[in-house]
Amino acid sequence: MMAAATPDLMSTIVSLSKRRGFVFQSSEIYGGLNSCWDYGPLGVELKRNVKEAWWRSMVTNRRDIVGIDASILMHPKVWEASGHLSGFSDPLVDCKKCNERFRADHLDNLEKCPKCGGQLTDIRKFNLMFKTFMGPIEDQSATVYMRPETAQGIFVNFLNVQQASRLKPPFGIAQVGKSFRNEITPGNFTYRTREFEQMEMEFFVPPDQDVRWYEYWRDARLKWYSDYGIKKEKLRLRDHTDDELAHYAKACVDVEYLFPFGWSELEGIANRTDYDLKQHTQFSGKSLAYFDEETKQHYYPYVIEPAAGADRATLAFLVDAYNVEGEGKEERTVLRFHPAIAPIKAAVLPLVKRDGMPEMGEKIYRDLLGNSIKSFYDHTASIGRRYARQDEAGTPYCITVDGQSIEDQTVTVRERDSREQYRVSAGSIVELITKKMKDSMK
Ligand code: ATP
Repeated sequence: MMAAATPDLMSTIVSLSKRRGFVFQSSEIYGGLNSCWDYGPLGVELKRNVKEAWWRSMVTNRRDIVGIDASILMHPKVWEASGHLSGFSDPLVDCKKCNERFRADHLDNLEKCPKCGGQLTDIRKFNLMFKTFMGPIEDQSATVYMRPETAQGIFVNFLNVQQASRLKPPFGIAQVGKSFRNEITPGNFTYRTREFEQMEMEFFVPPDQDVRWYEYWRDARLKWYSDYGIKKEKLRLRDHTDDELAHYAKACVDVEYLFPFGWSELEGIANRTDYDLKQHTQFSGKSLAYFDEETKQHYYPYVIEPAAGADRATLAFLVDAYNVEGEGKEERTVLRFHPAIAPIKAAVLPLVKRDGMPEMGEKIYRDLLGNSIKSFYDHTASIGRRYARQDEAGTPYCITVDGQSIEDQTVTVRERDSREQYRVSAGSIVELITKKMKDSMK
């Protein structure tokens, strides 16, 4: 159950996001569009880093998982088979007095409106899929749906991928992409939106190995968030109760994060059994059973699914990184991002705009960019102010070029978290930052 938002921290994050270019309201000049957000220059780097960290740990660094990128629009029968057409709905109630709309499963008391105390309507089921039409004729036969999850693109391609990559269960197929849900109550900034990005992986296992792999993935997915810097005490696993479980799921656990508005889901790990492959076999008439060469038997693998949200994870990384430290003149806002997640890795700051410092700074900056290290060059304002700006953007390393640099070709590296400063040779900066980035990478 979600508690009401603590206005302070969330609104601070929203305004920092706008000011520094993490997230803007969509179509802001037209008054915005409810629950739609645009990632700005820092936000898009942050979110890309989150998705890349996920992809690295799920696909790049593993021998048993491959990726796909399926289309958002799929054959309408997919949603019949998956159960989304008949069952993908949320229970909706309206307040008869103030007309506010709620998800019944988010309320403690269905007798009266939590806002005004008015009487609530009976529960109605509301299908969350966005409908549109394919081609110029807007009739029933042209109806298609914007996918509400990326998983189905994986299930329908199960045999294509398995045969093309010659993998044997246990193996996985991963995908990152947009999904759409006509949520009844979007909100809490980018936490619940109607258009969002998912990072899902379906792990196909022999049926008698499902429990083992379910446990493996629940532990691995919890660890991923803390590996990339989220505070352990703000993460927890929450098992679904029997009445929360989807009808096809044998078990499900959520990875939750303690947002300012309460413990909320970041990711669900479910044992989906062989439900999806069997449903698609039945509805398409094409068998999705796997043929085991050793036993010469066909079987339907069970599926363990870690399903995460890229936007929710990005928001958790942002909220968790946010820190205000010190007092009075010493006060600073720091985003303590893990270096692999930080939007900008290094800032090059010539102390003054003369005596060869800008030229030397420019050269270091060019070298960093040439080595694919996202960096920033800033020669405006006082050095203290420039450090403060980088702290607020979460940049882990600042490189300062000063008078001594011109004499002995050394520069000062300043670490964001400890504020420790040390001199190194200018020529070793790329190597140093590359090593620090590599060491921080999982
Ligand atoms: P919720 O209970 O919060 O509606 P869910 O259990 O329906 O979420 P899943 O279907 O398990 O969500 O989707 C997997 C992941 O996709 C979620 O853990 C979340 O990170 C992300 N996600 C789902 N719906 C949204 C949304 N409306 N906005 C942003 N992310 C979402």
